[in-house]
Amino acid sequence: MTIDRGQQRSQSSGLIVGLAALLFVPVLFVGCSTQRPLNALYTRKIPDVGHGAPSRYVVRASQYAFTTDFEMDKSDPLIHELENLRDTICETLEIRPSPMPVRIVIFENRQSYHEFLAANFPGLPERRAFFIQEGKDARAVFACQGERLRQDLRHETTHALLHSALPDVPLWLDEGIAEYFEFSDLPGQINPSHVDHLRQAVINGWEPDLPRLEKLIDLWQVKQIDYRESWLWIHFCLHHSPQTRRILLEELRDLGQSDRPFRLSDRLLAVIPDPRKEVLEHLHTLAR
Ligand SMILES: [Zn+2]
Repeated sequence: MTIDRGQQRSQSSGLIVGLAALLFVPVLFVGCSTQRPLNALYTRKIPDVGHGAPSRYVVRASQYAFTTDFEMDKSDPLIHELENLRDTICETLEIRPSPMPVRIVIFENRQSYHEFLAANFPGLPERRAFFIQEGKDARAVFACQGERLRQDLRHETTHALLHSALPDVPLWLDEGIAEYFEFSDLPGQINPSHVDHLRQAVINGWEPDLPRLEKLIDLWQVKQIDYRESWLWIHFCLHHSPQTRRILLEELRDLGQSDRPFRLSDRLLAVIPDPRKEVLEHLHTLAR
């Protein structure tokens, strides 16, 4: 995700405020998928997200309910894109997000978006988009019209799907995966901005440090370079080798287990003598 967006996790309030977004998650654990058919969701009440949220038009597609104050065609490519995103995430990460409704709220302009935030979530830092989860099943993504709407929706919806499938997703992993999926469904798609900035950082003496990322628990600690590095480690794991891909999938599978024996950095170190060197070599192989 782009770095002008941020995510904070407030331990005191029990909320997670998510990247690009503010990710408000009073309940961090969201149960794994149910077997409820998607069609049954069309009769479910869409999440109430607060005063002044656009609701004049509602378009339901798959598990999503798009609510807007401007007319949105059901054939809008954005809808199809988010439907495909779910399939891509399921196939890539071998997880099964809950099919419960996700409300996608799109504001017509930035002013109405900010007025909504001020009325419902005062005191939050300015962000271009955000994801909020309340309780077990109420999930909503907020964004506003603009040239980065597609990217923002992909990023925030990835958070929504990830949190519905996995318990206790570490901050760096959450953001790295959302960054990975925010551009396209194409496997291995790179983020050119991340590649450029990371390569320049290497020239300036920066080194990747996954154990440090794994210690991040508060979004306010996370710097732009950390989002980029998180993206790099996810890209590395998924595309370096079948072994690194399997290690990432095992990490996701084991999230939430109280006796989880390893962190991802430990898992990598067990099979790769120098993961830091390998991830840097991976960075330099990425085509621009
Ligand atoms: Zn994010």
